[in-house]
Amino acid sequence: MSSPSVTDTGILVLTGVPVVPGVAYAPVIRPGRKPVIDLGADSLGEDERPAESARFTAAAATVAERLRERAGRATGAASEVLATTAGLAQDRAWLGAAEKRIAEGAPAVRAVAAAVDQFVGLFTQIGGMMAERVTDLRDIGDRVIAELVGLPEPGVPQPDVPSVLCAEDLAPADTAGLDPSLVVALATTLGGPTSHTAIIARQLGIPCVVAVTGLDDVPVGAKVLVDGTRGTVTVSPDDAAARAEVAEAQRAAATAAGWSGPGATADGHAVAVLANVQDGAAARAARQTPAEGVGLFRTEMCFLNTDTEPTVEEQASIYAEVLEAFAGGKVVIRTLDAGSDKPLKFAGHPDEANPALGVRGIRIATGNPGLLDRQLAGIAAAAQRSGNPPWVMAPMIATADEAKSFAAKVRAHGLMAGVMIEVPAAALLADRILEHVDFLSIGTNDLAQYTMAADRMSADLATLTDPWQPAVLALVAMAVNAGAAVGKPVGVCGEAAADPLLACVLTGFGVTSLSAASAAVQGVGAKLAQVTLQQCRDAAEAVLGTASAADARAAARAVLG
Ligand code: PEP
Ligand code: MG
Repeated sequence: MSSPSVTDTGILVLTGVPVVPGVAYAPVIRPGRKPVIDLGADSLGEDERPAESARFTAAAATVAERLRERAGRATGAASEVLATTAGLAQDRAWLGAAEKRIAEGAPAVRAVAAAVDQFVGLFTQIGGMMAERVTDLRDIGDRVIAELVGLPEPGVPQPDVPSVLCAEDLAPADTAGLDPSLVVALATTLGGPTSHTAIIARQLGIPCVVAVTGLDDVPVGAKVLVDGTRGTVTVSPDDAAARAEVAEAQRAAATAAGWSGPGATADGHAVAVLANVQDGAAARAARQTPAEGVGLFRTEMCFLNTDTEPTVEEQASIYAEVLEAFAGGKVVIRTLDAGSDKPLKFAGHPDEANPALGVRGIRIATGNPGLLDRQLAGIAAAAQRSGNPPWVMAPMIATADEAKSFAAKVRAHGLMAGVMIEVPAAALLADRILEHVDFLSIGTNDLAQYTMAADRMSADLATLTDPWQPAVLALVAMAVNAGAAVGKPVGVCGEAAADPLLACVLTGFGVTSLSAASAAVQGVGAKLAQVTLQQCRDAAEAVLGTASAADARAAARAVLG
C-alpha cells in the first residue's frame, strides 16, 4: 500500500505493515529457491498411472511425516503451525485433486502443480484467513515436488551470523523452528498480520514487517535495519546510527515489556490505552496485550475481498467476535470506511478521478443509505448477542449535519454515537459537531492527508503527512479542546497514537484515549507511565509553538526525554 522513500542522505527506506515491534540490524538472507521443474506435456499410459499415483501418495506422506516429526520436536505456536501444515499435506481434497489428474494421465509433478494452483485459486477467492494459507499450500506443493524429483527440500539456510530473513512470504515449515539468536528479524513482500510469518515472529519475539513494497530488490548480504514498530526496512543505513537505534529499542523494549496497564501518567492521570483491530482474530490478539479495549475496529477491512454485501446476520457474527474478545471492555466500531485506498466491491463506488476526495466513508450512505442501515442493524444484533454494547462512529465526517443524521441512526439502536475527525472542516467545527454526538475520535492519518493536501500513500510526500506537522497538531488540539469544553471523550486512533512521544503530547492536549496497533500498545503505555501530566502539557504547548515537524519532535523530546 506504500512505496519506498529515500531519506535526505540518500538512504532507501521501504515501508510495510508492522507486525511485531522491535528493531534489528543485520545482513539479509533469503530462503533457497524452490525447485524449477519442467512440467512437460507428456501423458502417462494407462498402465503407468497406478504406480505414479502410489509414488505421489508416498511423497505426500513422506513430506507430512517429516513435518509431523518437526512438530514433535518444536514447542508452542511453532509446533502447532507445523502440525497444521502436516495436516494440510494430507488434506483429502487436494490429494484427491492431484490423484484425479494422475488418473487422467498427468505425471505426478504436473498433477501436484495443477492441484496446488486449483486450491490456491479457491483460497484466494475465499479471501481473509484462507488467502493467508496460500503460502502454506504452495510450500507443501514445492516439498512434494522436490521429493518426487529427488531434490533436497526447499527452505531457509542456517545462517552463520545473526541475519534478517527476507522473502516473498515464508511458509510455516520455513519459519517454525528458527533460532532467534541467528534470525533476528523477518520481512516479507506478502503476508498479513495473521499470516504464519507473523504468528511465528510473535512467538520468537523478533521484529517483523510484512507486505513490504520493494523488498524483493534488496540483495542477499545487504545490511538492513528492520523496525517492527514503524513498519520500515532501511537498506544499508549509517552503521553507527543503526547500532544506536537497536540499543535504544532494546532499552525501550525492556521497559515496555514490564508495562501491564492501565494507561496513566507517572502521577496517575488516566488515559485509556486501546487497540486498533480489523477482525475477531486481531481483537483476540489485542486482548493478550494490556490494551483496555478497542478504540478503532476498521469494519471495512473484513470485507475487502468480498464481492457481495454481507448479510446482517453475517455482519453480526463478525462484529460479535470483536465484542466478545473484549467482553466488558470498551469497543469502538467504525462503520464502513469504504473508498479511496479501501474500495469495497459491493459499495458501488463511482468511477472518480480523485477518490480520496470523493465518495468515501460516510458519503457512501447518501447514495446508498441501506448499506449503513444494514450495518447498524448488524452492529446492534452483535451488541445484543455479546452483551457488550459498542460505541459506534462514522468515518470522514465533514459537517455537523452529517454528524447529526448519523447520530440519530445510531441512537435509534440505543448505542453511543460518535464521529471521526479526519477532515479539517470537522476539526474546525468540532464544537458544533459535538452538539450532536457523544464522543470524537481523531484519525490523524487522514487529518494529516487533508490538512497538508498530500496523499498519505505517497512516499515522496511522507514528510508532509507526518503527524508531527504543527498544522495537524493545531487541529487536533482544537478538537480536543472542544470535547473538554463539554466534557465529552475525545480519543486519537490514527498512527499518531502509536508513537510513544507523540502519545504523551496528545495526552498533554487532553485526549481521553489513545488507540494504536496492538504491537505499539506497550510502548505507548510504558512511555506515558514515565512522564507527568505537567510534562505532557508543557510538551503540548511547546509543539504548538513550532513551525516544522522536526522542530515539534525536538521540542517534545526536550521536555519528555
Ligand atoms: C485515520 O485516518 O487516522 C484513521 C484511523 O483511519 P484509516 O487509517 O482507517 O483511514
Ligand atoms: Mg481515516
